[in-house]
Parts: sequence; structure tokens; C-alpha cells
Amino acid sequence: MSDNCIFCKIAKGEIPSRKVYEDDDFFAFHDINPAAPVHLLLIPKRHVVSLQEVQESDAAWLGRMVTLAPALARDNGCTPGPEGGFRVVFNNGTEGGQEVAHLHMHILGGPRPWNKR
Ligand code: 5GP
Ligand code: ZN
Repeated sequence: MSDNCIFCKIAKGEIPSRKVYEDDDFFAFHDINPAAPVHLLLIPKRHVVSLQEVQESDAAWLGRMVTLAPALARDNGCTPGPEGGFRVVFNNGTEGGQEVAHLHMHILGGPRPWNKR
């Protein structure tokens, strides 16, 4: 937990969100300003700022985070299969377009066209 981190507070339930998934290590919820018909955010519960901070020793939980994405996409309205699918985005640092300094995976999907991105 990092003081004043909005995503740490969301993961702890201190700030409300539209939760779609939670386990011991991860929390997923709807983005408040969706850029696609389906726009989820998947975060680790522990405070990691971005991919710029991760090391090889983080490979296991990062791998698990990636493998959670297709089930979350499917269970929340993304069309499965090659004609459907979803996009995964990690923004890292200011020049990487990151606004919230807690590592998060954007999961975007649904029928196109999308609003932005
Ligand atoms: P970034 O630009 O850091 O990659 O993306 C941050 C995302 O978090 C944005 O898409 C923004 O809409 C979303 N976001 C920011 N604050 C909140 C919040 O309080 N609740 C939810 N659900 N999403 C948020
Ligand atoms: Zn945090």
C-alpha cells in the first residue's frame, strides 16, 4: 500500500469501483472513463508503479496477470475468437501515457469503432 495511491485504495475497497474480479493478488474493475465498449483495469494488489520497476523475479505474477486477461475479457462482454478479441495496454511513465502510478493492465474490447486509442 502506498499512501494516497488511488488504485491501492480501490483494491482495498476504500474507494468504490465496479469490481469484476478479485483474488489474493489481483483486483479488476471497470475503467471510470471507458475508451471501448468493454474497458477493464487489472491491477496487482501490491503497489508496483509500472513495468519500469519490475525485475525477472516478478515474472511469475506478471505471467499470471497476463493469463487472467482472456477470461476477464470473455466474462465481461468481449467477443471470443478471432473475429472478436480484445486489446491489452500497459502505459508506463509519463511519456508512456501513464496517469495513475500503480501498475495496471487495460483490457479493451467490444464492437468497433471505439471512442479513443
Ligand atoms: P493510465 O493513463 O494511467 O494508463 O490509465 C489510468 C486509467 O484509470 C484511465 O483510463 C482512467 O479512466 C482510469 N481511472 C482513473 N481514476 C479512476 C477511478 O477512480 N476509478 C476507475 N474505475 N478508473 C479510474
Ligand atoms: Zn498503489
